[in-house]
Amino acid sequence: MDAIYIPQLEKARQQTELINVNECLTSLDSLTPVKGQLKAVHQGNYLQVSAQVETIVTLTCDRCLQQYNHRLAADVAEMLWFETDGADLEAEITLEGPVETISPQGYFEPDDWLYQQLCLQWPQCQICSSDCKGMDQELMATGYQGNDHRWAALEALKRTLVDSQEP
Ligand SMILES: [Zn+2]
Repeated sequence: MDAIYIPQLEKARQQTELINVNECLTSLDSLTPVKGQLKAVHQGNYLQVSAQVETIVTLTCDRCLQQYNHRLAADVAEMLWFETDGADLEAEITLEGPVETISPQGYFEPDDWLYQQLCLQWPQCQICSSDCKGMDQELMATGYQGNDHRWAALEALKRTLVDSQEP
């Protein structure tokens, strides 16, 4: 995707650029291209960016460790304030938390922005399906009963440590 040159966007028809997105982002390891639309509008003192995109990514289930495909979608809008020399604008909006700014003489990179937006949609809890059974039940049961040889090895190690501490 080509970067959008802000001064050029200001001169564009309705100060708007509409991009049809259909490509793989270099920084995102996705199974399918990222598809959708991105709209950038020059609003005088800020750049308004919005997008509706989606793609498929391969994730690993936290519960059963199997890989599965997940539809990652973003329907987002953000205001990127143009940097100013004065500090008055900053003072006004710090209450809202950190604010994204951009140079009014610079470029807007749709790829980077889309990547960030999709990362924000990344599921915190990765479970392959609502009826995921988790790890092999038998393996977990033996593990909890202490019959697993790995637990035995750990116990032996603990005993060694205790013994070595005695005078
Ligand atoms: Zn699972």
